[in-house]
Amino acid sequence: MTLNLKQMNTSMEERDAAGRISFAVEQFGDGLVLLSSMQKTASVLMHMFHTLGLKNKILFVDTGYHFHETLLLRDQFIESYALPIVTLYPTLTPEQQEEQYRCKLFKTSEGQPVCCDLRKGKPFLRYMKQQKKTAVVGGLRRAEGQARGSIEVVAEDPRFSGYSVYPLVDWSQEDIDAYLLKHHVPVHSLHALGYPSIGCGCCTTPVLPGEDARAGRWRHLREGERTGPAYCGMNFTDGSGI
Ligand code: SF4
Repeated sequence: MTLNLKQMNTSMEERDAAGRISFAVEQFGDGLVLLSSMQKTASVLMHMFHTLGLKNKILFVDTGYHFHETLLLRDQFIESYALPIVTLYPTLTPEQQEEQYRCKLFKTSEGQPVCCDLRKGKPFLRYMKQQKKTAVVGGLRRAEGQARGSIEVVAEDPRFSGYSVYPLVDWSQEDIDAYLLKHHVPVHSLHALGYPSIGCGCCTTPVLPGEDARAGRWRHLREGERTGPAYCGMNFTDGSGI
């Protein structure tokens, strides 16, 4: 499927988030999935999929290194909203990976991208290709800045010859919080404990007052002058690919 991206994005900009999801489903049908990180934006999007009555699959990649609370939130969404959440797994267990690579890959700057690829990227892309999916909905927002500051609602994703769709592209953090509050949507319990951004347990710490929202991600890889990764590479639109 080849889209006129310029035309589609012009049309998408005029719609609200739910309207963008509906329009994307019109275009991609059940070829469209939602990739959920179980963070706040994912809670908003999962709730929208529920209220729109969509049967599209919702993907969650269980890296084996997640906080227990992340898995609890997944289960809560399945139980409360009967969402069709599909949990994807890496080929190797954390123990098998550590044995094969003779180290904990996430502990070094060289190992982290390999670990993120093995435990997040590969399971996701394997599913997209095997199931012939053509579009993935994600929670990227321009307000997050850096590589995300100028993203469009729809972008090409050549990794699976399809597209990424970001319905919340123009939402602020206040918009997210207001939506969650208004609709009583469950959120990751660690957000309330100083974790604005949550990934794997071994690569996520709380943030201190005044720190950037993503400062807790891969903090162990940023020492002194050394800069660490900003993103895991799950989102092709970040520019990092996988
Ligand atoms: S966030 Fe850390 S543990 Fe999780 S996949 Fe990436 S490097 Fe591995």
